[in-house]
Amino acid sequence: MSPSNDLLASAEQHLYPNYAKPAVVIDRGLGARLWDTEGRSYIDLYAGIAVSILGHSHPALVSAIAAQAQKLVHVSNYFHNEPNIRLAEKLCALTRMDRAFFCNSGTEANEALLKLARRHFFQQGETERYRIIAFDNSFHGRTLGSMTATGQKKYREGFGPLAGVTHVPFGDLAAVRTAMGPDVAGILVESVQGEGGVVVAPPGFIAHLRALCDETGCLLLADEIQTGIGRTGRFLGFEHAGVQADALTLAKALGGGFPIGAMLCKEALKGALPPGSHGTTYGGGPLASAVALAVLDTVEGEELVARAARLGELLAARLTKLSHQHGAIKSQRGQGLLQGLVLADGLDAGALMARLREAGVLLTIAGGVALRFTPPLTISEADLEEGLSIVDRVLGEFA
Ligand SMILES: *Cc1c(COP(=O)(O)O)cnc(C)c1O
Repeated sequence: MSPSNDLLASAEQHLYPNYAKPAVVIDRGLGARLWDTEGRSYIDLYAGIAVSILGHSHPALVSAIAAQAQKLVHVSNYFHNEPNIRLAEKLCALTRMDRAFFCNSGTEANEALLKLARRHFFQQGETERYRIIAFDNSFHGRTLGSMTATGQKKYREGFGPLAGVTHVPFGDLAAVRTAMGPDVAGILVESVQGEGGVVVAPPGFIAHLRALCDETGCLLLADEIQTGIGRTGRFLGFEHAGVQADALTLAKALGGGFPIGAMLCKEALKGALPPGSHGTTYGGGPLASAVALAVLDTVEGEELVARAARLGELLAARLTKLSHQHGAIKSQRGQGLLQGLVLADGLDAGALMARLREAGVLLTIAGGVALRFTPPLTISEADLEEGLSIVDRVLGEFA
């Protein structure tokens, strides 16, 4: 009997069945490679959903975890800890924001963002100003607030009532203007809709949202959870638009695989969440903070943002070629190392992903419509090429 069978039988019996996982148990990773308990190896072109930007078992991440674990793991927000203060300092500098709040995941970061927006206006005496404008096909997380902001039926259905958010088509400025009103506290937007199918905001759209927020006094809120930390070839996705949000969220890549989320904002918003109004037991702990610091130091030291831009161009060119060569693919789209291949209508995305996995490449499907590429920013050109040649072969066989 293979070593995985016992585990899979136990999983079947004991895990809550909210995920549709294949019968694969991942055991270890190194760089852009993963191995399962059967000894099969995979080229990782998805990095745990745009999380493991340093690849697997990067020495900087491993030693940061070990060193901080030996010193101090947890202390709670009753006290300061140095790694957290250093991390706040560093993130504020990198994002040109003024204040950082820490939590443990993307959805939690967005909860902080939404609470910040509502309470900011409450604090100003505008108690009826709470509505958020968000976009169709957006993804902001699974907790009630973030899910309410998420613009996809499959994530919302059955969990209502979900109130206080108006959804409009992504990229449609006229629709945003129509939805605008004196009760709107903020516009929440991703510069590239990752889960929504790797859809890049049309040129000028983000800058127009900035101008509209300046005009109406509502807040521009950037969900940079998937686009942030260099993924798109800039540190933040918003940098492509040349404008800044009033507040933004980070998670996924921030910890390189260790759970951490952050909400950063401008100084003008520092009074919105006074002591007692928001918090979390683990947020900003020394271990998570030390790991995130190591991630940011490595991103800087290995010049990974520039690398994402350069490898992103290479990847986009290769994917464009694949889109011309294979009937299964309609087109290529994306930014930096967040790239998608749009699948032909009616194509069985799940079956394609399974075929790719069997052939030794791990990828995800975004929005049910696009094969999504989010490799580690550290991936070697050789590994990327090898992965792409497997994708090429599988697409050729997949009629
Ligand atoms: C993944 C993601 C989230 C949710 O993050 P979790 O850590 O899964 O809660 C929110 N927004 C965007 C854009 C994401 O990609």
